Amino acid sequence: MRVVVTGGGGFVGSHLCEALLRRGDTVCCVDNFCTGEPRNLAPLRGRRDFALVRADVTGHFEVPGPVDAVAHLASPASPPDYDRMPLETLAVGSRGTENALRLAHRNRARFVLASTSEVYGDPAVHPQPEEYWGNVNPVGPRSVYDEAKRFAEALTTAYRRLGVNTGILRIFNTYGPRMRPYDGRVVSTFVRQALEGRPLTVHGDGSQTRSFCYVDDLVRGIVAMLDTDEPGPFNLGNPSERTVRELADLVLAVTGSRSGIEFGPLPVDDPARRRPVIDRARRMLGWSPRVTMEEGLRCTTAWFMDRVPHQQPTGA
Ligand code: NAD
Ligand code: UDP
Repeated sequence: MRVVVTGGGGFVGSHLCEALLRRGDTVCCVDNFCTGEPRNLAPLRGRRDFALVRADVTGHFEVPGPVDAVAHLASPASPPDYDRMPLETLAVGSRGTENALRLAHRNRARFVLASTSEVYGDPAVHPQPEEYWGNVNPVGPRSVYDEAKRFAEALTTAYRRLGVNTGILRIFNTYGPRMRPYDGRVVSTFVRQALEGRPLTVHGDGSQTRSFCYVDDLVRGIVAMLDTDEPGPFNLGNPSERTVRELADLVLAVTGSRSGIEFGPLPVDDPARRRPVIDRARRMLGWSPRVTMEEGLRCTTAWFMDRVPHQQPTGA
């Protein structure tokens, strides 16, 4: 297949590009690097089966040759990123998604939207099945991201009714190598802080929960979705749920760090809990996560150790 990956220069997108190339697909990445990094794609440069188009998908862009599938991942994803780029986040979720859908339409290609568990907002139903419509504050600090993704889902659904072969994935918190050490997300922040010997900054009392999926597992799910004609939406995430406080303890154990824990304010509208029901993805995609949090954190830590000035871990 010839696959266009928007946002392919980012954390998840660069792993997706690699996975597609590994199985013999040709990949064209479209990215403006507003939150991604060209060095994520350094191993792919110069390959004849890989092309990079540096462009903002909210404007005009062209990709070379025919297209069999479009994976639309372009969007800031970390809360500090979308807080810093509110209008860009709304634009990429709306205009950017429409441009990516049009590209798929013109080429009669499969289209997969990287949506998010954030469409469930601060969920009143737990764990979250795809049937749940969510509890999003439309004027809160997270709304630029949450509502952009909800709009993107509506747009994708409308294009499906017009005959485009679309699919929607709702991705839950994902972590792994190539997260930016200062992106502000919890796993990257805790691993960096643990390696630096600084206190881990837990927001609130740390009782809020998340369910963390290792990036290789997620990418397998995205590839499976590209390969079907299923519309979704499908949750992709690891149902193993833990509190942020438990995560902090686990990061300290895996890194062998002697860092302490520092408690700070809980951000406004920070969801209290989040865990995916993944029965649909299991059934329709044959997908389930395989990597334990301990294993995944070990791989993430190894990657961060080459990039973050660190004190020698003691017990890892
Ligand atoms: P990321 O910030 O690392 O990657 C996003 C990429 O999109 C970056 O390379 C960025 O430069 C690019 N981009 C943003 N706006 C663009 C635009 N207008 N034009 C072209 N490129 C643009 O984030 P990520 O974690 O890799 O997330 C990838 C996708 O998965 C996002 O759509 C995100 O919403 C979704 N997602 C991720 C997670 C997660 O935990 N990582 C969870 C849910 C959903
Ligand atoms: N968090 C934290 N310390 C940090 C960064 C984040 O305690 O330094 C918390 C954050 O408030 C949230 C959880 O960890 O409750 C997950 O945050 P992240 O930004 O990774 O993902 P999201 O909130 O989008 O699920």
